[in-house]
Amino acid sequence: MMDVRGRTVIVVGLGRSGVAAARLLMDRGARVIANDGAPRERLSAAAAALEAGGAALAPGGHDPALFERADLVVVSPGVPSFPALEAFERSGREVIGELELASRFVSAPIVLVGGTNGKSTTTALTGAMLERAGLRTFVGGNFGTPLAEVVGEAWDVLVLEISSFQAERVPTLHARAHALLNITDDHLDRYSSFAAYADAKGNPFERMAPEDAAVVPLGDALVARQAARGRARVVTFSASDARADVAVAGGAIVDRVAGASYPLEKVRLAGAHNLANACASVALAAAMGAPAGAIAEALARFEGLPHRTALVADVDGVRYYDDSKGTNVGASVAALSGLREERAVLIAGGRDKLGDYAPLVAALRDRGRALVVLGEAAERIAAAAGGVLPIARASSMDEAVLAARSLARPGDAVLLSPACSSFDMFRDYKDRGDAFVRAVRALQGSTGGPAGEVTS
Ligand code: ADP
Repeated sequence: MMDVRGRTVIVVGLGRSGVAAARLLMDRGARVIANDGAPRERLSAAAAALEAGGAALAPGGHDPALFERADLVVVSPGVPSFPALEAFERSGREVIGELELASRFVSAPIVLVGGTNGKSTTTALTGAMLERAGLRTFVGGNFGTPLAEVVGEAWDVLVLEISSFQAERVPTLHARAHALLNITDDHLDRYSSFAAYADAKGNPFERMAPEDAAVVPLGDALVARQAARGRARVVTFSASDARADVAVAGGAIVDRVAGASYPLEKVRLAGAHNLANACASVALAAAMGAPAGAIAEALARFEGLPHRTALVADVDGVRYYDDSKGTNVGASVAALSGLREERAVLIAGGRDKLGDYAPLVAALRDRGRALVVLGEAAERIAAAAGGVLPIARASSMDEAVLAARSLARPGDAVLLSPACSSFDMFRDYKDRGDAFVRAVRALQGSTGGPAGEVTS
């Protein structure tokens, strides 16, 4: 356990995880300076309340003088670097993230789930499997509750989603099992290169030992290279190649390492990409000792998370899916290609992350009926897909759904999977997904009643 008594620690970035880190540090006797670029009046109530708890509140910028007298900095994943932080690091003092800080105060084994896409789904499913196995299981991290909020509680295992930003600052965190699901273009607006993004994601592998498990997609050289940075035993997974250690084969998820098999007819998750997530979850849970019975029960119950290829309704023979969490090209390609309908009208666009749309255009060529674009990225996506399929432009989600309805044929899907973030038009991906769901419900109303509403 780390001893922070009497040490001066600056917490930079006072979102939920920053506030949790500050509280943890105060509990353990540190002198905390709570710092944020935003002015005091824009801080959340929880951030402002740190002052009453004994922290020095330093909002409205990153005053270099503060950093001169600190012993440690805990920085939030969303905060880009700034000169005082760089100078602090150059002086040899430590800059860590909230996940790293919290990990220094826990003793339960850690399971990490990283990757460009599928993290939340895999984290939740793995957690459900371990819970079924009777373990007191914490599920959180980048998704849901920050680890720092639950330090001191009695856990048998911690299942943590980790983002690439968090993975930049976990110098000692040790995972007993770590899945890196995939690495495709994302956040290129923040990283200097794709290689830098991939390297950030692979950091936690470095400290893994031969008794730990590195869970990686079979045949992905990029991810394999990251896993090879450490000495963990490699367990491969695949939804498309039966040779993986945990693979979809012969109508089942087969775990060759544990010698167990889970029939697909008992798996609730839809979409080929979600079967890959299920395979990774099986590998992680089995590596942590979950018995096959517990894994099977969790697979039979888990229906997936909201806004991830979630079926909203069937209207006039067209099925509408909310995949608002598809916020990058790789996600939308997976969502579109994983649909069981042969063709889909895709609604895409939002805040552009400056990735390459070519893979999406290729998927649209195979599986697209038409494309409806909206938001800031609309013209860049339309330009990339020009000549490949019919394209409509929309200026609101209602308009997009109406356009999609007129372009879809019976038996098709309409898929909202924007390949972009939502912040140009919506509060977040949930807000965007909710707008889509409302627009679809309005369609149902306008076609004269509930046309086979689906609730699963
Ligand atoms: P994350 O937490 O990494 O964003 P989610 O489980 O929330 O992952 O899924 C986000 C989106 O990524 C989904 O809506 C879907 O479009 C896509 N997706 C999910 N799993 C995968 C996968 N294994 N490979 C590629 N894309 C995926």
